[in-house]
Amino acid sequence: MSMIKDFRTIAAVNGIASDAAFGAVNPPLYLSSNFAFREFEHSQAYEYSRTSNPTRDLLADTLAKLEGGAGAVVTSSGMAAVNLILSLLKPGDRVIAPHDCYGGTYRLLGALRDKGHFDVEFVDQSNDEALTSALKRGASLVLVETPSNPLMRVVDIQAISRHAKSVGARLVVDNTFLSPALQRPIALGADFVIHSTTKYLNGHSDVVGGAVIAAHSKDIEELKGWANMIGVTGSPFDSYLTLRGIRSLFARIERQQTTAAAVARFLVERPEVSVVHYPGLTSHPGHELATRQQLGFGAMLSFELNGGIEAVRRFVTGLTVFTLAESLGGVESLVAHPASMTHVGMGEEARRAAGISEGLLRVSVGLEAEKDLLSDLAFSLAKIG
Ligand SMILES: *Cc1c(COP(=O)(O)O)cnc(C)c1O
Repeated sequence: MSMIKDFRTIAAVNGIASDAAFGAVNPPLYLSSNFAFREFEHSQAYEYSRTSNPTRDLLADTLAKLEGGAGAVVTSSGMAAVNLILSLLKPGDRVIAPHDCYGGTYRLLGALRDKGHFDVEFVDQSNDEALTSALKRGASLVLVETPSNPLMRVVDIQAISRHAKSVGARLVVDNTFLSPALQRPIALGADFVIHSTTKYLNGHSDVVGGAVIAAHSKDIEELKGWANMIGVTGSPFDSYLTLRGIRSLFARIERQQTTAAAVARFLVERPEVSVVHYPGLTSHPGHELATRQQLGFGAMLSFELNGGIEAVRRFVTGLTVFTLAESLGGVESLVAHPASMTHVGMGEEARRAAGISEGLLRVSVGLEAEKDLLSDLAFSLAKIG
């Protein structure tokens, strides 16, 4: 294992051919909830699967290596991963979160703040002045999502990490939108990385899961302790499927982002579209930063249709290759309407403040042939009339 250096190799073969029982090439799935004691007062390596499980541990080890972390905890969903990080806080602590963060994260932070668990301030982290003054008021944890959902805003992880450290705050980066194949926040100064593995890491839209990866080994035991106490660890079967998904992570996301760039270029030229948000476009305000910070521009984009909600209705009704659905990162291309779907819980006012209009559509580009996706878009755009 010490010979393995490249992240692609880790994704493809971490744990392969390591089965001591039968030499199984693919690591076995251990569904068992419990493990027999060797003898009275002496357990074996495992006792109970909420605490630890060999299949889940192999996924955690793979994720820790891919993110360059000291260890990882695999959780039952992305929200369980967010919640697990928040277990580290106490009343009086302050969280600085993006004003346009994932809707579920926004809702959880607000609900726990209202119960007095900690304080939260939502800020536009691309506005240096706003971020600096928020940090001056004190912070224990800074949460970053880049590129953001759904507007694909890019923020500077290294700069925010320096800012956060100067006030003694720890930095958490939600790396769901790019995956470790395209961005490694720990190398840029993050203390924790969180994932909804539901998205690119599993990549096949058949698992809901999550993970927290810690940069420092001292944090990993605390996280494992909390995950065991509150019972948010992921199931062995989901871990098995997610590890299977990771085997092809690089191949999938590289193909998907090539097609996404073609979709972005296509949409830019269309008169029905007022703006396209894709960091790979030179017109995108975060293009230069994304070029430096990311290993690719990813396969997520969003765009605004002229004609508001009626144009959106006609457009999504005409689609036959893209599916109208929430979530992202799978092999199938999806379109979502944030104002009525993913970001409905945010409320109209917060949506407006975050710049999420009624005409905005988010696209997750899958593995279909580029020409089929482009003709689907062309056909549906023509229906707007
Ligand atoms: C989906 C998502 C989550 C939540 O993950 P679940 O697996 O749905 O619980 C958190 N952050 C981001 C950026 C996401 O896209």
